Amino acid sequence: GAAEIAALIEAGGGEAEFALPARGEGGERRLVAQAFRVRVGRRKEKDGWGVVVRDVTETAALLAKLALLAGTDELTGLCNRRRFFEEAAREFAHASREGRSLGVAILDIDHFKAVNDTHGHAAGDEALRAVAARLSKVLREADILCRYGGEEFAVLFPGADPAAALRAAERLRLAFGSAPILWEGRELRVTSSAGVYAAPPGRESRLDDFIERADAALYAAKEAGRDRSVLGG
Ligand code: GH3
Ligand code: MG
Ligand code: MG
Repeated sequence: GAAEIAALIEAGGGEAEFALPARGEGGERRLVAQAFRVRVGRRKEKDGWGVVVRDVTETAALLAKLALLAGTDELTGLCNRRRFFEEAAREFAHASREGRSLGVAILDIDHFKAVNDTHGHAAGDEALRAVAARLSKVLREADILCRYGGEEFAVLFPGADPAAALRAAERLRLAFGSAPILWEGRELRVTSSAGVYAAPPGRESRLDDFIERADAALYAAKEAGRDRSVLGG
C-alpha cells in the first residue's frame, strides 16, 4: 500500500490499483488509490498531497462475475456466441499475424426438433446439456467450444489445417453420439452433422467468411444425409 502511494506521488499524482492481504478473513482486498496535489496551510502557502483510498473488492468481484455471465450460455455452461466471436477474432488475428492455419467447425444436431416433439422440451434441454458435457470432455486445451445457437455448437481449432480440422470435428462428432442420453428411463440417441473450414487467414480474409464457409459445408452435410462432416472449400 504505502509503496504504491509513494510511487504515485513520485509520478506526480494519478490513480493506482493494488491488492493487500485481507485482515483476519484471508484472501485479499483490492484497493484503488488516487493521489492529487493540494495547497495547505492558512493561506494555502504550502504544497501537499491528498490521497483517497477506496476498497473496490466487492465491485471488482461483481464486475468479474458479470463479465463471465455475459459470455456464458446458461443452459450448457459453455461459452456463448458473444464470447465465441471475441475469442475467434483474437485467434483469427493471431493466426493471420503468424501465418498459421485456423480451423472452424459448426456442429448441428440432426432432427433435433423430433427429440423435442417426441420426448418434450425438457428432454431436449437435457440432451443439449449432455452433449455439451461430452464435447467439453474430448476437447483439446487449445480448442474453443461454444454454443453457437439453439442446437448448434461452434468450435475453433487454432493451428489446424483442413485435414486436422476435419479429424478434430469428426472426433467431436463421434463423442456426440457415442452413447445414448438417459431421460426418464428412456434412451435418446442423437447424431450431428458438421461443416468444417480451415485455412491460413490472409490479409484480405475475414472471420465471417470462414464461418460462412463452415456453414455452407454444414448445409452440404445435411443434404448428403446427415450424421457426417463435410470439409468446405
Ligand atoms: P436438422 O437435422 O435439419 O438440423 O433438423 P432439426 O430438427 O435439428 O433442425 P431445425 O432447425 O428445424 O430445429 C431445431 C430445433 O431445435 C427446433 C428447436 O425447438 C430446437 N431447440 C433450439 N434450441 C433449443 C433449446 O434450448 N432447448 C430445446 N429443448 N430445444 C431447442
Ligand atoms: Mg440448427
Ligand atoms: Mg438441427
